[in-house]
Amino acid sequence: MLKINDLVVSVEDKNILNKFNLEIAPGEVHAIMGPNGTGKSTLSKVIMGHPSYKVESGNILFNGEDITNISVEKRAKLGIFLCMQSPLSVEGVTNREFLYTALNEIKDEKVNLYKFATSVEEYIKYLHMKKDVIHEAINKGASGGERKKNEILQMLVLEPKLIILDELDSGLDVDSLKIVCENINKYLKSHKDASVLMITHYSRILDYIKPKYVHVLNDGKIVKTGDFNLSLEIEKTGYNGLNNISGNRENE
Ligand code: ADP
Ligand code: MG
Repeated sequence: MLKINDLVVSVEDKNILNKFNLEIAPGEVHAIMGPNGTGKSTLSKVIMGHPSYKVESGNILFNGEDITNISVEKRAKLGIFLCMQSPLSVEGVTNREFLYTALNEIKDEKVNLYKFATSVEEYIKYLHMKKDVIHEAINKGASGGERKKNEILQMLVLEPKLIILDELDSGLDVDSLKIVCENINKYLKSHKDASVLMITHYSRILDYIKPKYVHVLNDGKIVKTGDFNLSLEIEKTGYNGLNNISGNRENE
């Protein structure tokens, strides 16, 4: 589904990813772990097509199609979804307007308004969000946790094929994290081909959404790959305790 080949990415002339490689098959959950400042959010933004992150060389394939240089909108339409580490608020656009417009755009057909409203109402209930959030401006006055729930609401509505979760647990209290992860797991059960790229520096979240593979990112590339046990090892020893890990910790 997703194949990243020798990707070199820079931000403001600073090299962040350096010959980065990753392959995710349909239905797989992968976790990328790494210390702060190693380029995890950069990776999520470059897959989504954020214009500030420059691809110097290499490419990103999605279901065989080269998406390295296409717009964010086109990537969203192909089924890529990013749950951001720190979602922004948008003045003057309600969640309902945004979700309905985005869904029509992605589905390529007029979505039945009644069906849309009914399912959104249901998702809001599942996520334990305020009932009238749908009529409010996007993330207006919302806490970190409410913003994260709103991201997952968007995910449920837009039904992506590739879900990128950047530090999902940041801002969420324990109960909300549990609710959000239950909803993601339920989605994955009913969308067997959907894949997940979970980006995190804590292994705690991996107790809720179980990855098949755990990768460690350092110096701009994956330096170690394992299964869930690798995250337990990181929990115990820290990144410094892993063998074959070296390098740039200037941002810690
Ligand atoms: P992580 O998510 O792993 O903590 P990031 O991808 O956010 O790391 O950042 C990696 C490095 O890239 C950091 O040194 C950060 O300062 C730099 N960086 C990221 N985004 C930008 C940006 N928009 N402008 C300038 N530097 C950036
Ligand atoms: Mg980050």
